[in-house]
Amino acid sequence: MKKYEAIRQQLLARREELNRRIHKMADKARHIDEPLTPDFSEQAVERQNDEVLDALGDAGRRELAQINRALARIDSGEYGACANCGRAIPEQRLEILPYSDLCVACAEKQDAR
Ligand SMILES: [Zn+2]
Repeated sequence: MKKYEAIRQQLLARREELNRRIHKMADKARHIDEPLTPDFSEQAVERQNDEVLDALGDAGRRELAQINRALARIDSGEYGACANCGRAIPEQRLEILPYSDLCVACAEKQDAR
């Protein structure tokens, strides 16, 4: 049962870090309502920063969803088994890709599609 406890702790720590980062970014985004400066070159820089914030937020939110899914699979006992064929996913693969829910063969098949 405690087989994936180390990975679970790792996922929880990562989730906490992402949550902190997303909240920080959301706080920053709220200040963007301020009117843009009349200087056009400065405007361009400000717009670029907004885009960076958005991109980081999306990637962070996506990763958060993957973490939650992996944690749910650990809790339900599904973790470590391929979601497609049911075979065991090698532990080395889970250490490198803790969000992975496919074995190597099925992941390769999916990539080839
Ligand atoms: Zn598989």
